[in-house]
Amino acid sequence: MRFKAFIFFIFFISSGLKSEIVVDPGEMIAVKISTCPDLKNKEIFFYTFNNIEYAIIPSPFSKNSRVMSGYCVPIKINKKDFGESRITILDVSKVNLSEEDSQRAYKESQLIRDSLKSYSKNIKPSLEFISPVDGIISSRYGKQRYINDQPRSPHLALDIAAAEGTKIIAPSPGKVILVGDFFYSGNYLILDHGFGLLSSYSHMSKIHVNTGDYLNQGDIIGEVGSTGRVTGPHLHWSVYLEKQRINPESMIAENFFEKLFN
Ligand SMILES: [Zn+2]
Repeated sequence: MRFKAFIFFIFFISSGLKSEIVVDPGEMIAVKISTCPDLKNKEIFFYTFNNIEYAIIPSPFSKNSRVMSGYCVPIKINKKDFGESRITILDVSKVNLSEEDSQRAYKESQLIRDSLKSYSKNIKPSLEFISPVDGIISSRYGKQRYINDQPRSPHLALDIAAAEGTKIIAPSPGKVILVGDFFYSGNYLILDHGFGLLSSYSHMSKIHVNTGDYLNQGDIIGEVGSTGRVTGPHLHWSVYLEKQRINPESMIAENFFEKLFN
């Protein structure tokens, strides 16, 4: 009898706990605070859904097929093949950089990296994102990139092709923290949505906002263009969580909340 009671006790305990979280690389993960109370002491993005509080963390693209620890439940990141994308850049000076361009690109990458460290606690992030532009997806997140047949870093953004001049809107409320004309990204800006959630917009023909502006969802930020290193007019849209580039397409998918809080 005692043994049976013990077995029942073990079953009772384990059935109340989620044994693991399984997720694709580049997605958001929601960890219930009730299963991991120590997270409450961390500087992290918290979100309440259906009266349950969660910590929202990224599954880094680089952790493809690995297990993340430190969140009370093992987080298994699937092995996922995102496919490849081959593009041809006719302007070879944008592929094999001169000394001057390479110094410029390096300085700009430092400036962008520093801006992406932003962690604003006065903006409460919303997870209800809408698409920043109406267009056709021309390159998905995660694809291994080949530029003029040379292997490059994976494409950790979403490309949406649209006619030059198509309006680009803020997909979620945020503050403009960087605006500029960059070697690779052309007319570029970064929105800070708060608590380590940021997004960036590249290759615009025009920018309609300034650094320091606070935007509502739907406010016009710029227009689609082909500035910087591109093959044609499109928006290169990146979303960052805790400095990890995550899949923007998932955030605007209809089942985003269902998948995140399943
Ligand atoms: Zn792109």
